[in-house]
Amino acid sequence: MSKIMQLSSALRGKKISSAELTKEYISRIERLNPKLNAYVCQTFDEALKNAEAADKMIKNGEGTLLTGIPMTLKDNIATDGLPTTCCSKILQGFKPYYDATVWSKLKSQGAVLLGKTNMDEFAMGSTSETSVYGAPLNPVNTTRVTGGSSGGVASAVKADMAVYGLGSDTGGSIRQPAAFCGAVGFKPTYGAVSRYGLIAYGSSLDQIGPITTSVEDAAIVYDAIRGKDTKDQTSVSTEDGKTELAKDVKGLKIGVAEEFFDGINPEIKNAIDAAISLYERSGAEVIRLSVPALKSALPVYYIIACAEASSNLGRYDGIRYGYRAKDYSGIDDMVVKTRTEGFGKEVKKRIMLGTYVLSSGYFDAYYKKACLIRSRLIADFENVFKECDVLIAPAAPETAFPSGYSGGNSIQMYLSDVCTVPVNIAGLPAASLPCGKDKNGLPIGMQIISGRFCDKKVLSAACFYEHEAGIVIENQEDLL
Ligand code: GLN
Repeated sequence: MSKIMQLSSALRGKKISSAELTKEYISRIERLNPKLNAYVCQTFDEALKNAEAADKMIKNGEGTLLTGIPMTLKDNIATDGLPTTCCSKILQGFKPYYDATVWSKLKSQGAVLLGKTNMDEFAMGSTSETSVYGAPLNPVNTTRVTGGSSGGVASAVKADMAVYGLGSDTGGSIRQPAAFCGAVGFKPTYGAVSRYGLIAYGSSLDQIGPITTSVEDAAIVYDAIRGKDTKDQTSVSTEDGKTELAKDVKGLKIGVAEEFFDGINPEIKNAIDAAISLYERSGAEVIRLSVPALKSALPVYYIIACAEASSNLGRYDGIRYGYRAKDYSGIDDMVVKTRTEGFGKEVKKRIMLGTYVLSSGYFDAYYKKACLIRSRLIADFENVFKECDVLIAPAAPETAFPSGYSGGNSIQMYLSDVCTVPVNIAGLPAASLPCGKDKNGLPIGMQIISGRFCDKKVLSAACFYEHEAGIVIENQEDLL
């Protein structure tokens, strides 16, 4: 039984109350967070109040599987009256006046929020090291990065400082940290989950999704947050009812695109090959294919994401939100100084790059060309999914790298997104789940991708592997 199922039945069977469970999680956070730096804001008073309210719901026979379960949100998801800072100096002290739709959905089901978790500043990065609060650490091996940008959620879930968490994924930020920390990460189809209240990075790419300790839990959380929202015009309604996870893969057509394996660490390639063989032995059909446009995905992603970021981050001017420079002469000087002092180096780099690719004279050469290649990649994926149900690929070309990469070797950091960004460019659903360990004991992540709104196919295929391969995600307490 998955962790959420187990805890939910313990709560309903009166073996434990949500207040007691929440206190256990609070004491774990007090013990482990000083080492791991996963939480940047702790909301224990609210959590205890929410837990008592959840206990009442349970007593009255109300609520859902998530009622009374302690969880966390990435620090870019708006929470009414609670700090939401994107781990940036420029949003220090900012408390939204409204809840993100995902959080209001969970709150109304009696979810217990333990706090907000660490991330790369404005979700820009793959290590969580660009956070103004310093990086979270990987519970599997604290000399390694958690991945990013939802590194705090992945660290908290892996160390059992939250039963589950919500992250955001613009180019891999749910799947890659889940892979680096040995957890399950699920990025739904673009539009399946409302983005209202998610602080925007690249609006045509951003999507909210869960990080959990099993595929079944990811499906439970996904079902609780998905659906059309009038506050997000890009959201759409998805099929009603619970996501049922298939028990077998007979006849499932699995595509394996050679480009996803270019330059991949051989240990990762071997682990994914072994997983593909397991599917094949279980009755799936494997189709080897090529998607040439995948080779252009990384530059296309960085042009589009930075272009959108340069526009989205225009609103941080010292007037409307958070930080304002102290000494200035006149409004223009105030805006310039606020932005110069408030944004970190990586964010400034991307705003400048994004402004450049949108500027007249360069628009056609970069932004327009990237949009054309984007259409090409979308069309190529559509063709692939006429033939295949899912694609299997690595979640990242490397396992968790040593801390300090984002400063010392930033090329490496950008390259680590090569397997995840194509999915965002085309708005597809994809999960990442553990499929073994490398020689250093670091988790290897496998990615399962499908066509738009085939989220269920992704979760079903992932769930099958998890059961068949006997993957059990243990929490990492012993190593800390
Ligand atoms: N690593 C990618 C980037 O830096 C993806 C980040 C994300 O998905 N938020 O843009």
